[in-house]
Amino acid sequence: MSDRYAVIGNPIGHTKSPLIHGLFAEETRQDMRYTAIEGPLEPHDAFADTVRAFIADGGKGMNVTAPFKLKAFAMADERSERATLAGAANAMSFEDGKVVAENFDGVGLVRDIEMNLGLPMAGKRVLLLGAGGAVRGALLPFLDARPAELVIANRTVPKAEALVREVGAQASLTACGYDALEAMGGFDLVVNATSASLTGDLPPVPPSVFDPDGAAYELVYGKRLTPFLRLARNAGVREIADGVGMLVEQAAEAFEWWRGVRPRTRAVIDRLTVPLD
Ligand code: NDP
Repeated sequence: MSDRYAVIGNPIGHTKSPLIHGLFAEETRQDMRYTAIEGPLEPHDAFADTVRAFIADGGKGMNVTAPFKLKAFAMADERSERATLAGAANAMSFEDGKVVAENFDGVGLVRDIEMNLGLPMAGKRVLLLGAGGAVRGALLPFLDARPAELVIANRTVPKAEALVREVGAQASLTACGYDALEAMGGFDLVVNATSASLTGDLPPVPPSVFDPDGAAYELVYGKRLTPFLRLARNAGVREIADGVGMLVEQAAEAFEWWRGVRPRTRAVIDRLTVPLD
């Protein structure tokens, strides 16, 4: 019988994960079946029960999407360092009766920026907008990429400050609110890791943060030119991208973790890309 995997979320109808993992399995000739599960929102412990039923049914691993990333982290028996800092899991592996939690969102984002877009962060000035789960997951991989400066700006400033405190003081890392950005000049890379674009909103970011020779990256994908990407484009930024590459790269990380073989991502990204204009 094929090994079973799934993505769990609610709602889940929009998910691209079964398509992505199906293409990976085809390319790497893995005998596996990957489905989508709509997880229960109520009662409180129903999520863990659903995961356990999947394991009892032969499930080997799961991807986890909103709103279950915290619950997945909470039910795990073991957690990676990245998942621990994020306080959230976006992937689980079921090994010898144990639930192991991982978080590949940040490492997928860094791979997309550095490998696919060809923009190494080492020595660069990087601005991350937001301080939610995605930024929590991105922080360690971003620091590993050794930017000269990493600024986290968030609407609720204490959330960004708490995150910086948790990682530990280091000269290159600071937290602030949007009103402090005007005085900071242009960044080589500005990443919108807020959820503002989901509702067509724009974080109150001044156009002066954009350097025309730099890049702007939007985590939300498939929404064409979001208000954030439009602002960047109007500020003269030529290199703009949305989060479809991040989605595929985090999936590739999970696939390799589960199957021990690394799938190729380029063709899958191209297949899922919605043109920005
Ligand atoms: P969270 O809900 O954890 O955090 C949301 C963040 O957005 C908070 O920092 C919040 O600020 C901020 N925010 C929301 N609305 C606004 C606004 N109008 N103006 C300014 N700031 C705002 O979400 P996640 O961190 O989990 O996800 C963020 C985005 O990343 C989502 O859109 C998600 O779809 C996307 N994503 C994409 C992935 C991919 O593979 N491409 C993977 C993971 C996430 P405050 O703290 O002040 O409320």
